[in-house]
Amino acid sequence: MKKIDLFIFIDSYGFELLKKTGSLHSKLTYQKPVRMQFGYSSTAIPSILTGKSPSTHKQFTFFYHLKNNSTSMFSFFDSWIFKIIPDFISKRRRFRVLLSKVFKNFFNISGYFDLYAVPFSKLKYFHYSEMKDLFSSNAFENCENLKDVLLRKKIKHFISDWRLSEDENFSELFREIKKQENEFIFAYFAGLDGVQHMHTKDSSEALDKVAYYKENLDKVFDLLEQNHEDYRVGIFSDHGMTTLSKVVDIQKALKETSLDEGKDYLSFLDSTMARFWYYSDNAQEVIRKKLSELPYGKILSNDELKKMGILFEDQRYGEDIFLVDPGVQIAPSDMGKDALPGMHGYTPDDKDSDAIWLSNYTPEKPPVEVKDIFECMLERVKGS
Ligand SMILES: [Zn+2]
Repeated sequence: MKKIDLFIFIDSYGFELLKKTGSLHSKLTYQKPVRMQFGYSSTAIPSILTGKSPSTHKQFTFFYHLKNNSTSMFSFFDSWIFKIIPDFISKRRRFRVLLSKVFKNFFNISGYFDLYAVPFSKLKYFHYSEMKDLFSSNAFENCENLKDVLLRKKIKHFISDWRLSEDENFSELFREIKKQENEFIFAYFAGLDGVQHMHTKDSSEALDKVAYYKENLDKVFDLLEQNHEDYRVGIFSDHGMTTLSKVVDIQKALKETSLDEGKDYLSFLDSTMARFWYYSDNAQEVIRKKLSELPYGKILSNDELKKMGILFEDQRYGEDIFLVDPGVQIAPSDMGKDALPGMHGYTPDDKDSDAIWLSNYTPEKPPVEVKDIFECMLERVKGS
């Protein structure tokens, strides 16, 4: 086989971590930071897979609210059965995982699905964004993804399965390189994300994980050398990781207002942002005033939302989005009871947010922001 393009996506490998660990392989001589897509992996991955902004591919965070469409798939949770389940059971992580599994099967959801810590009483107002497997064909209504383009252009390819373990994914990758049949390979590794969330980017655990990638990449390069005359390797990530510096309780602050959640307004608390929808006349004014008194974050302006590619006409991800400062975490939130040692989802201006691009060649158009990685990967495929 003469030529092959191989791309490896290592979730959460930030430019700051790369500075510490050095290159992943001596052949990866081209390196640069890449500006993060604001949000979490739930928006970075679709941006990389489509080359589009969230306002086009429509994936920002997992939970969204439509003011004029209250029929949610979660309406089910409004039934009496869920109202009598005591908190100590309904909030238990093991119960949540089990319930998420049942739900995922029942609704035939092929994407990543988790109910996290969203209270049952709140779920009925929300919709879930990742109903389809983002990596498979026809996953997006408004645009093509990587799989669609490779199929349309009849490129022999392999895209790894995000459900498999890292060891399994590397074995598959080795096998696919040895086959000498593929022109394009895309492999996704998510393990470093969890390690850094639990131990921070500066931990020995994070360094061990990078050492594991380096070891396996040595083998990848050996196999490429043995099996292909002309190989291009690009390795990239979606964001970095920021160490926890402060925990804030926004729920408590909201309770200090005269407003009732569910009647006057609705909120969704992610780990680094609080999103709001308003129902009564003065709710926006009251909430905005309360948020402006909090010294650890700010409401994003429409200009900022537009620049970040997350200005949605129907405001499905919030009429207001309050973003906390780098290092601050909202806990408890609807994503979990406790803060984690590491988190991402802060302003892309923060250096800890920066993602990476490494390659054994100089790209024609090096990626400036995360969504540019899509075109960058297709550089050689484009003309065929
Ligand atoms: Zn993460």
